[in-house]
Amino acid sequence: MELRSKSAISTGKGTFVIDYVILSDPQPDEVVVKMKAAGLCHTDYDSLSWGKPIVMGHEGAGIIARVGSEVKGLSEGDQVILNWATPCMKCFQCQEGNQHICENNSPVVAGGNGYTPGHAHLESTQWKGNPIERSFNLGTLSEYALLKESAVVKVEYENLNFSAASIISCGVMTGYGSVVNSAKVPAGSSVVVLGCGGVGLNVIQAARISGATKIIAIDINQSKLDMARQFGATDVILADKNDTGLNQAAEKVKQMTQGRGADYAFECTAIPALGAAPLAMVRNAGTAVQVSGIEQKITIDMNLFEWDKIYINPLYGKCRPQIDFPKIMALYQKGDLKLDEMITREYPLEDLQRAFDDMLAGNNAKGVIVFE
Ligand SMILES: [Zn+2]
Ligand SMILES: [Zn+2]
Repeated sequence: MELRSKSAISTGKGTFVIDYVILSDPQPDEVVVKMKAAGLCHTDYDSLSWGKPIVMGHEGAGIIARVGSEVKGLSEGDQVILNWATPCMKCFQCQEGNQHICENNSPVVAGGNGYTPGHAHLESTQWKGNPIERSFNLGTLSEYALLKESAVVKVEYENLNFSAASIISCGVMTGYGSVVNSAKVPAGSSVVVLGCGGVGLNVIQAARISGATKIIAIDINQSKLDMARQFGATDVILADKNDTGLNQAAEKVKQMTQGRGADYAFECTAIPALGAAPLAMVRNAGTAVQVSGIEQKITIDMNLFEWDKIYINPLYGKCRPQIDFPKIMALYQKGDLKLDEMITREYPLEDLQRAFDDMLAGNNAKGVIVFE
């Protein structure tokens, strides 16, 4: 039986419409999720300009509404968190343990622009009589989402706050995983975090959970630095807008770290000009981590690499959804990982434009679209 699902649909030309899509019955390895909440991030805004219509949204949580004939371990009514890393578990990278860069299914590695050709049974979601792609093979800004079973992780949790759960699948995973899975920050470390938006705050709290003793947050916005302290920053630096490469801020970091520089620096700004900035913040043999996914060409002063510095750019915090999401939920349950505090505002789907406006104005740590 077909399902009508009210969705936010990007036109691909910089705008979106709210309209109904038609979902067909799930294929044997698919499920239908009734969405409860969908987090918003800058990628969703970018997806307005991907040059093709798509069902928007790549973060979310909801309840299983239907299961395909071969789906095991999931049934109607299960609470799930969605993820866009849907590992095949068979390719070279999956075998290497790099499920997030699966050679067959990654919407970033293989297909680009948030969609893997052939992966998602394109014909099963229709808009105006034509098949339509779903952002990152998910399309969470929709009352219902039709997905591969590998795109959901079941969570057993009483009175689950779906808004909190919905943000795990992107910003929380990216920030937390960059610290814990990629950099593997040990206890006692000094850590710098450049940019204290949604991802940066999760880097900060993951550094705190990892036992980092000095966590220096840098932002140009004082209110973001105030939030950074709530999430675990021990020191803050209010950067000057004119300090373009953050060189002055790097000097301050040195003063705070015995003149040496920090052990780790995480760039979470998505500002291309700051792609090299974390290198300026770390000590010799320190590790710079580019979390924000800068892809533009930039010029780097190679002196910044001296000496023995490491620069990594992890994707999606090396997400292994079935392993990492339960860990994150456990930290949330213990109160170590703050998620409720991260959600600045909830909006109905109809208010998506307002949610984007607030995000772009920097008013939200995280905005979430909620469904009735
Ligand atoms: Zn794979
Ligand atoms: Zn996201």
